[in-house]
Amino acid sequence: MGHDRHVKYVDGLLKTWHPSARTTQGYGGRFTVADVIIIGGGPAGSVLGSYLSMAGVSNIILEKAVHPRPHVGESLVSSTVRIFDEIGFLPTMEEAGFTRKYGAAWRPTKKEGEFSIRFAEFPQEGVNQDYTYHVERSKFDHLLLLHARDLGSKVVQGVEVREVLFDDNNAATGVRVSIDGASTELSSKFVIDCSGRNTILGNQLGLRQKDPVFNQFAVAAWFENVHRSDNPETEEYIHIYFLPTERGWAWQIPLTDEITSIGVVAEREVFKQSRQRKEEYFWDMVATSPALATAMENAKQVEDFNTEADYSYVMEKFVGNSWMLVGDSARFVDPIFSSGISIAAEAAKYASKSIVEALQTGDRSEAALQPYEDKIKAGVAIWYEFILLYYKLMHLFTYFIDHKEHRLQILQLLQGEVYERENAPVLDAMREMIKTVEETPGHLWAGHLTDIPID
Ligand SMILES: Cc1cc2nc3c(=O)[nH]c(=O)nc-3n(C[C@H](O)[C@H](O)[C@H](O)COP(=O)(O)OP(=O)(O)OC[C@H]3O[C@@H](n4cnc5c(N)ncnc54)[C@H](O)[C@@H]3O)c2cc1C
Repeated sequence: MGHDRHVKYVDGLLKTWHPSARTTQGYGGRFTVADVIIIGGGPAGSVLGSYLSMAGVSNIILEKAVHPRPHVGESLVSSTVRIFDEIGFLPTMEEAGFTRKYGAAWRPTKKEGEFSIRFAEFPQEGVNQDYTYHVERSKFDHLLLLHARDLGSKVVQGVEVREVLFDDNNAATGVRVSIDGASTELSSKFVIDCSGRNTILGNQLGLRQKDPVFNQFAVAAWFENVHRSDNPETEEYIHIYFLPTERGWAWQIPLTDEITSIGVVAEREVFKQSRQRKEEYFWDMVATSPALATAMENAKQVEDFNTEADYSYVMEKFVGNSWMLVGDSARFVDPIFSSGISIAAEAAKYASKSIVEALQTGDRSEAALQPYEDKIKAGVAIWYEFILLYYKLMHLFTYFIDHKEHRLQILQLLQGEVYERENAPVLDAMREMIKTVEETPGHLWAGHLTDIPID
């Protein structure tokens, strides 16, 4: 194998060739194609690539699938709008005609009616519209990837990263991929894992820690003819139905005028013990909520059921020498509040800042990247605490939403705005209330407390 073979990025492809033979072939050498290698072209990878290109940092996104590819996670929170604006992606969102999401509604198990919030109730700095979007992920992720490419990211699809490469100082130096059937090594100054729940680098380094509380299981599909709401104002909100089973809930996401995504979620054990096939399980879960059953009365399924399991975890650390984990590859929390894409996008933004700074100072050490980890861990911890308190006592959530003093704070959390714990005193108020319920004999809500540990 001579060093006269080369790897080059040409029009979305990594080409390897031997000049004398004039053919494209595999090669066992190492090549630098960009300063930053981004593994994965989902929202985290594309937003990161966009920010880096805007800052003039060369980057390549290696995506194993070929977009458009399906993906779960179809409803956004409003803080994502600020990021789309910053990277110039908002006009594309508008042109694509994604359903506008003005708010969120909750439907209690037995009671009629709904509790709702509208994003416009609390103006967000840097967000100049009162809605965000529901998205068909195949279309959204594809457009975002193309946007990153248009801003300057090299984008290669259909190439799977097999391994991240390290030197003797535990610094990431590149990745191993397979091109034209041959193993090829690509070098870079940074390797950023945006591989989602595939968590390629976290797995390689043995960093993955299973969530001690959550082990949820979801079954979802697309339907036509779903009766979305009796209230025209909330028809295009996301609707969350409380289900009377352990950590049970369902989402209703209006994807287009005709198509609605419906998913049911509960502890995996609930599904296992049902001994049912996913179809039967789904419809039985729907039947447990009178409101959801009514909404689904005339529904016509237009897509096969998909399942998602084992999706809550955290990596022991998010950074090391010349590497970072961004988006789901770092941590995944229960999707009850549609936080995933917002977290991925915010993390990508902060990661890009750290990378730019590190390239300027020449210090790419774990210590230099630590502030990124601290920031993102703190932000996601707030989401996680909110989710724990929600599952501890669901009644509290609807009570707080209707409570003048707490409503705006809850809304701020739901918008994805809070990254400092001291700015979320509503979580302390929720804890206080839970304590009161626990310590008051015969409290009206006592029977609704779950055994979720919240400390
Ligand atoms: C049941 C459920 C419901 C959810 N609902 C919502 C919701 O309503 N709203 C919301 O915001 N979020 C939701 N989420 C979360 C959301 O799906 C994720 O948070 C989001 O997709 C994270 O983006 P990402 O870019 O980090 O990862 P991904 O979107 O998963 O992208 C990772 C990309 O990396 C690629 N890849 C993987 N391995 C490799 C490799 N080795 N080499 C090259 N490429 C690779 C994959 O093909 C993929 O394209 C939900 C999740 C679940 C499980």
